[in-house]
Amino acid sequence: MPGRGPLVRRTFAVVGGGAAGLYALGVSPGVDTMAFIVLGLATAAALALGPVMNGAPRRPWFIISAVCVLFAVGAGVRPAALAVTGWQVALPDLFVLPGYALLFLGLGMLLHRREGVRDLHATVDTLIVLLGVASLSVTLLALPASEVVGRPLWLSLASAVYPVLDVLLLCVLVQLWFTSTQFTWSLAALSAASTALLAADFVYALLGTRGILQAPHAVDVVFAVSFLLLGFSALHPSVRLLGVGGRRQVQAWTPLRMLVIALALSVPVVLLAMHPSGGALRLGLAAAAVLGIGLLLLRATAAVRALGRAQRVTEHEAAHDALTGLPNRGYVDAWLQRRLGRGRALTLLFLDLDGFKLVNDSYGHATGDELLRAVAGRLRAVAPQRSVLGRLGGDEFVLALEQNDRDPRELATDFLSGIDAAFALTEADVTVTASVGIACSARPGRPAPTGQDLIREADTAMYRAKALGRGSVAVFDDSMRSSVRERLDLEQALRQALALDELSVHFQPVVALTSGEVVSHEALVRWTHPVRGNVPPDSFIGLAEETGLIVEIGDWVLDRSLEVLAARRAAGAGSLTVAVNVAGRQLVDPLFGGRVCAALHRHGLPPSALKLEITESAMLQEDVTVTHTMDWLVGAGVALSMDDFGTGFSSLSYLRRLPVAEVKIDRSFVAGMVDSAADEEIIRAATAMAHALRLSVVAEGIETLAQRDLLAALGVDRGQGWLYGRPVAFDAYAEAGSVTEPSLSSMTASGRTVGTGSS
Ligand code: C2E
Ligand code: MG
Ligand code: MG
Repeated sequence: MPGRGPLVRRTFAVVGGGAAGLYALGVSPGVDTMAFIVLGLATAAALALGPVMNGAPRRPWFIISAVCVLFAVGAGVRPAALAVTGWQVALPDLFVLPGYALLFLGLGMLLHRREGVRDLHATVDTLIVLLGVASLSVTLLALPASEVVGRPLWLSLASAVYPVLDVLLLCVLVQLWFTSTQFTWSLAALSAASTALLAADFVYALLGTRGILQAPHAVDVVFAVSFLLLGFSALHPSVRLLGVGGRRQVQAWTPLRMLVIALALSVPVVLLAMHPSGGALRLGLAAAAVLGIGLLLLRATAAVRALGRAQRVTEHEAAHDALTGLPNRGYVDAWLQRRLGRGRALTLLFLDLDGFKLVNDSYGHATGDELLRAVAGRLRAVAPQRSVLGRLGGDEFVLALEQNDRDPRELATDFLSGIDAAFALTEADVTVTASVGIACSARPGRPAPTGQDLIREADTAMYRAKALGRGSVAVFDDSMRSSVRERLDLEQALRQALALDELSVHFQPVVALTSGEVVSHEALVRWTHPVRGNVPPDSFIGLAEETGLIVEIGDWVLDRSLEVLAARRAAGAGSLTVAVNVAGRQLVDPLFGGRVCAALHRHGLPPSALKLEITESAMLQEDVTVTHTMDWLVGAGVALSMDDFGTGFSSLSYLRRLPVAEVKIDRSFVAGMVDSAADEEIIRAATAMAHALRLSVVAEGIETLAQRDLLAALGVDRGQGWLYGRPVAFDAYAEAGSVTEPSLSSMTASGRTVGTGSS
């Protein structure tokens, strides 16, 4: 059906237009009647079909279609009725008057469906217009028509009724316009059809006041045009919007609307001035004028109230978080400030979900939002009375309350218990924990903090809690303040490190234990800060991970390492490889694998030239992207190595499942090996286990020959450590050449080697 729109429209244009044209010619009363009936039926068909085709509500249009049939029959029988009875009314009115009733019903149904129709402002505006037009029509048309002498009373009444009905019709249309948010051709055509109807009726009513019953044929042609327009209105695709409408945010008085309303208001007053006599009429007009002013006042009051309401909504929105409906940072801040200003002692709990980013990354933001809403709901349920629960943004919630006798840690534990149970979300069941930081405003020996201070302190304590592990609670104390400042300073400096060229890459050789041949290098990042000096990776890699800076730093280290390797290979070290450390944060980036391959390609190196060292915990992150990235890299030919083996879960089942080619035994075991039989046993078992899975084994931190010999005896394949060389910069390393057997002369009496490079 929807595809037939153009055909139906064309058919209506031919049949309806043809009939209207024939009617306009005015050949004879018989032909006119036939033509009008055909036009009426064609319009009725258009009114029934158009809305169905265009997906508009059907029932109102079926009713208007029936109206059309009634109007057509009424108009069709009028010439005949006039010829037979001498009065044109009576018989046609039997069809037309019920037609009007149905028309109001149909249009009323359309209006009823509109969202903005119950808007008080639109209705009052419409009533003001109604008052003006009704005064005009009663004074100029209805009263004179009813006063024509020599006509039966019922006939005079009927003549007076039409202009009034048309006024009502006009008001319905005005209401349709007032509740529309956009221009539609359908409404324009409907209005034009009604205006044509109104104009023709007006002429008839005007003639009627002079006792003339049959208008010139041209006036009847206007009725035919009105039908055509009505048909077009129903066939146009925008007919769908007629039953929809929309709510205007504010029913503002546009200049046009103001003009219409001003004119409508002035009508009764002007008419009153024009009719110095006629008691009942003057009384009616005066009443209309007073009513108009009353409506205007109502409109003004309603507008002020609406403005107040809108302001309250805006204020609420400004102080609350759109996602959860909880008070936002501004609100919480103001609340704290007010209480602290009155000298109240407050406790603030700062709660941050653990691993929320993982939920977002794995299931998408919609699920993340769903989780935040659910968490907000649970926290709301457990928040104590007279406390304020707010969301500061992201996964950060705060609970502020007056300091009471309860231990804040206990309070935090109760608060956390709210999110203990798993959340059944649309995508998955998710279990979350959170870290809570607590700050109390009343602490001996310190001035009262501001609201923002308190939030900052609780935030700091929350970071401490995070460091203690999932689901921890920490209370702020002054010792945290300096560590926080230091952390912030370091973060700031690290952000600039890359741009200021303060980072470099050092290389440490990895050798085959039995032959002593250098088979690879591990690339290790170095940061030389102008004031802080050499900052060890252990003090900034974690920070870089937390802040996300590791992505940029890691990319840079990879690129620099491959550049050096390419140069070394070009200089003759044909089969040399490089091992680059990769942080967990880099692996959750779906584009990481692609960037690794692009870097290899950029430096003309095969994937086999690179090994990526990943710690066990980074490999086991709860994120699907990590598994995908690792599989993808291995598929592309890049080998993966499990770094710091023995410090994490170190489970055989994980080793079997993960796509690694190598295990790097953590240097703590190597250091403890000579004195501790347990460490030696661990290395022996790990090596046997790895070999059973066809993985090669590298030992880190070999500092002495004794360690080297023992490791070789345990079957470890390769080794790395100060015994073979410290991590050194590219140039120094290039000069040093490849390391083979360490020379005994470089050994101290205690059996430790003296480093050959700078660390
Ligand atoms: P790692 O990957 O286990 O690197 C080995 C660490 O052991 C290096 O520390 C190295 O200097 C040190 N080492 C090597 N041989 C010996 C030895 O004989 N005795 C002792 N005591 N230490 C030895 P470094 O360079 O301080 O790096 C520490 C950690 O920082 C690395 O541990 C690695 O996890 C991380 N890291 C370093 N560079 C990067 C990087 O570019 N990206 C990422 N994501 N992490 C890096
Ligand atoms: Mg490593
Ligand atoms: Mg390691």
